[in-house]
Amino acid sequence: MRFIADGMVGRLARWLRLIGNDVEYSKNSTDNELIRKAATESRTLLTSDIELYRRAIANGAEAFLVKGKTEAERLARIAERFKIDLSVDATNSRCPACNSTIRPITKEQVIDRVPPSTFKMFDEFWECTNSNCGKIYWRGSHWKKIDEHLSKAEKLLKMG
Ligand SMILES: [Zn+2]
Repeated sequence: MRFIADGMVGRLARWLRLIGNDVEYSKNSTDNELIRKAATESRTLLTSDIELYRRAIANGAEAFLVKGKTEAERLARIAERFKIDLSVDATNSRCPACNSTIRPITKEQVIDRVPPSTFKMFDEFWECTNSNCGKIYWRGSHWKKIDEHLSKAEKLLKMG
């Protein structure tokens, strides 16, 4: 899925990227910019602002009004609406920081780029393909948190 997120739902952008969606997000975009980008780049605007939502629809853009008290609940509603699988498949993931694709790299290639303890403990690594970002990812403790977060959202989905 291709989305564009407004400032209020920015944290969701990172989750959605991680589970493989193309999500544009810039904290400083004006409402007009968001609507124009949604329309011209065929992205669905994600916003929790009812006024912005209405304006986007009136201007011919796709939009989804994000409701929910918690991050997990908001994520669950988006997943339900757009039939998004709430699991991380690193081969499809996009960089949570910058929305570029990530690619697997060898252990040898990360030797100077991750903490020594991480290097010792893990064998699989991914690198952001955007040379201005270049973040390295592995299934560390943050990964467990991600899984917990996604299963929370999934449980909410099942409860309806
Ligand atoms: Zn990146």
